[in-house]
Amino acid sequence: MADSTTVFEIASDKPLQVDLDRCVHCGLCLNACPTYRVLGVEMDSPRGRIYQMAQVAAGAPIGPSYIEHIELCLACRGCESACPSGVQYGRLVEAARAEIEAAAVRTPGARRMRRFVFGHLLQSPALMTMLGALLYLYQGGGLQKLVRALGFLKMLGKLGEVEQLAPPAEPPFFFGKIGKTFPADGVRRYKVAFMAGCIANVCFARLNEATVRVLQKNGCEVVVPGGQSCCGALHVHAGLRHEARGLARRNIDALAEGGYDAILTNAAGCGAALKEYGELLEGDPDYAARAHEFSGRMRDVTEFLASIELNRKMQPLAIAATYQDSCHLAHGQQIRTAPRKLLEAVPGLTLLEMPLSDICCGSAGIYNVVQNEMSMQILKSKMENVNRTGADVIATANPGCILQLRAGVRLHGKGQRVVHVVELLDEAYR
Ligand code: SF4
Ligand code: SF4
Repeated sequence: MADSTTVFEIASDKPLQVDLDRCVHCGLCLNACPTYRVLGVEMDSPRGRIYQMAQVAAGAPIGPSYIEHIELCLACRGCESACPSGVQYGRLVEAARAEIEAAAVRTPGARRMRRFVFGHLLQSPALMTMLGALLYLYQGGGLQKLVRALGFLKMLGKLGEVEQLAPPAEPPFFFGKIGKTFPADGVRRYKVAFMAGCIANVCFARLNEATVRVLQKNGCEVVVPGGQSCCGALHVHAGLRHEARGLARRNIDALAEGGYDAILTNAAGCGAALKEYGELLEGDPDYAARAHEFSGRMRDVTEFLASIELNRKMQPLAIAATYQDSCHLAHGQQIRTAPRKLLEAVPGLTLLEMPLSDICCGSAGIYNVVQNEMSMQILKSKMENVNRTGADVIATANPGCILQLRAGVRLHGKGQRVVHVVELLDEAYR
């Protein structure tokens, strides 16, 4: 069994000079950067952040200003798509965060909180179930309405703003389906493994169920392998690469047997990390080859469905939908056509493209919680573009984006419904 012990000190991860040297400072990435678009500040642009990383690589200290600019980055990788020189910015910023983590510059309180969230909560179905049940009681038992009606959230300041982003808990949680196999409808064409996520088991249980149903409708026997865990994407983004490696080893072990045609996820953020296990474990002689093989079979569910002969027996859905590219699908995995192809396959659905659909919505993992102010500014611009389309549905391909866009609809929208692409397919199949 893989070692998945919680170790937060990371010795060797930092931006590589060869990656930093690729940047020729042309600035062609600037307008693709959401933080630069809001602030217009060079140090909060991709080029400026790379410059600061290079300064640290040359011996400058890791100070508060550096940490602030690196943490204000969404790690959305919009700059990576825009860069003509092939700068792998996602790799750079993840390594920069690992270096910050290793420098142990955080306060003891911040370290304790990170240890709890990343080391315990995200890895423990029991803890997530317990917190999910509490969340459900708070949201469904009238307490949330009371707290909001009495204006307590305003008194809580930042915490109150974040409360409004809390995802709804959806019992029965999907944890109960882990370890189970769901047969194909009709003739079995494929055998696939489904990675159910971590928080998604609690807050996107219905989405996970819809994903399984859509795959069944498309001739897939769907296995939800037991022993799987959080993919480690949030850990990588937070600079906790050692911890992410432990989770990667655990997932590789859990899916070693089974002979799956593909390993699937419905979360673009998870998919990008799962496809990069090969890179994450490249220095591990016991796992490097297995990690590479695992990543080779990893597919986003939209990517997979668009690559097979799709079951066209659908009911018409008379809706106008716009598609928000999830950053880790469009920029992290270069998948833009597949989700659109699926939407266009739904009879009756009109796809209305929004301007700047591949600019981040401000979700970015837990960014909307830890960088709430910037996240909300980015969301406001996003919603202006959504509203311009006149669409009544916003489709996307990542649970985090769904939450963020639902908050956007509450704050600036016109009552649009926000769903995952596979949820629309699921509706059309019913
Ligand atoms: S990251 Fe790429 S696009 Fe941006 S300044 Fe550097 S070379 Fe130019
Ligand atoms: S990852 Fe996103 S927020 Fe960060 S520098 Fe690149 S475009 Fe800007």
